[in-house]
Amino acid sequence: MTTVLKFGGSSVATIEQIQAISDYLQTRVATGEKLVVVVSAMGKTTDSLLSLAKQITDRPMIRELDRLLAVGEEQTISLLSIALNSRGVPAISLTGQQAGIDTMGIHTKSKIKAIRKEVLHEKLRQYDVLIVAGFQGVNEAGDVTTLGRGGSDTTAVALAAVLSQRCEIYTDVAGVYTTDPRIHPTAKRLDTVSYDEMMEMSALGSKVMEMRSVELAKKYDVNIFVGKTLSSEGGTWIMDTAQAMEQKAVTSVSVVKNVLSVSIKHIPHTAGVADIFERLSERHVNIDMISQTAFDGEVFLSFTCPLDEEAFLEEALAELTATLPQIKIDRHTEHAKVSVVGIGMRDATGVASELFATFREMGIPFYQVTTSEISISYTIQEQDVEAAVAAIAARFNL
Ligand code: ASP
Ligand code: MG
Repeated sequence: MTTVLKFGGSSVATIEQIQAISDYLQTRVATGEKLVVVVSAMGKTTDSLLSLAKQITDRPMIRELDRLLAVGEEQTISLLSIALNSRGVPAISLTGQQAGIDTMGIHTKSKIKAIRKEVLHEKLRQYDVLIVAGFQGVNEAGDVTTLGRGGSDTTAVALAAVLSQRCEIYTDVAGVYTTDPRIHPTAKRLDTVSYDEMMEMSALGSKVMEMRSVELAKKYDVNIFVGKTLSSEGGTWIMDTAQAMEQKAVTSVSVVKNVLSVSIKHIPHTAGVADIFERLSERHVNIDMISQTAFDGEVFLSFTCPLDEEAFLEEALAELTATLPQIKIDRHTEHAKVSVVGIGMRDATGVASELFATFREMGIPFYQVTTSEISISYTIQEQDVEAAVAAIAARFNL
């Protein structure tokens, strides 16, 4: 049997950790398993590499940046292979290219196009452990590309899709929780979570799994186990839970901090709104949570964006007030987005009303509210996040 495992950056941050993981892998191999192990860069290596380039220029060439960032994972694969071979375990490290991972799309945000799995099958006949660099592949031009931050999860799931249909992801938390335990210490671990819920949670702020990897797992029916590295605490299965007997309306609460909220009134109808979004998109401001209402030929518009894009936003707003002097702008830099997710919301009604009641009881003001088929999101003041999450957790027994 072949199993795909992935160890995140915080699990391979030191030589001691790499040694301990090698001991563990040796015990797995001893039971007759063949392993494909995907690793991330050690600790914060990717951030350090990125900041080296940023010391030279704000806009490094993306081809060269990919070459640089790929180095992080290559350091880990070689060290892990050295450790395994020193224990007598037949193991070999492989870059993305050597593992047959073909990519497409632009540098730093590439997508996996195909995996030439014959290469892997061939190597698995010779070795017990293949150690594959996460987050990287090779494009049609023969250049190294990376898959976007957090992309090692995608590498692991993609390998599982062609090799084993099952993927074990090891990280510093023991699975997927009803909410972030750092915000709400009594958060509970979920035994299972559906692909759809996990994608929604990743999109709405959960950091456990990169969103694209979950999308891929759903598409290729790969079951993912998320657990804590070298722990027997148990973990969470991400899988198709459509067959589950009972589905709770609400399974989790996700939080995004550092949200900037903007509201603009007295915008001339239609033309003004298009003008605003054009200026924002020219500056690549990442807009989220748009809502607008029209009244008496004027528009009232609200939206949010990440706080670290404030400078670009201000530029766009300054241009806008120059052309539309009648508009009034209100902004809040200390907002957070709290989202309630649950696949059961597809059928259950009344979740929104319970949430509004919860905010009323707590006296917590909220600003924007948006919904999707399986989630409801609120912007609130950052100082209210802990109280809001605790109240929601109590209400829905999370
Ligand atoms: N090392 C890369 C990052 O920090 C990829 C990963 O860890 O998944 O984003
Ligand atoms: Mg990660």
